[in-house]
Amino acid sequence: MQPCQSCQAVIDEYILDKRLEPLRDLTVDDFNVCADCATIVANACVECHGAVYVPRSRSTVPDYCPACRADRIDRTGQDPGWNRGPQSS
Ligand SMILES: [Zn+2]
Ligand SMILES: [Zn+2]
Repeated sequence: MQPCQSCQAVIDEYILDKRLEPLRDLTVDDFNVCADCATIVANACVECHGAVYVPRSRSTVPDYCPACRADRIDRTGQDPGWNRGPQSS
């Protein structure tokens, strides 16, 4: 079991799993942070209106959930980043 990358606490996978429940496609295995350090915002994704994950290093809420970001990378071959850019094609 890995410690949290952010606060070094031991990650409780059960609690983290509960936290991540609103997110599509993501499991505790995709995270290196504990539940306290994982910020989930419900209904924030501009594509699927699902929950998004806010990385610790960011102060703004992402426009895309991890699943939609991955979808876009699959579809376009380009990483849209976490936010809808001003440069839309
Ligand atoms: Zn933590
Ligand atoms: Zn989404």
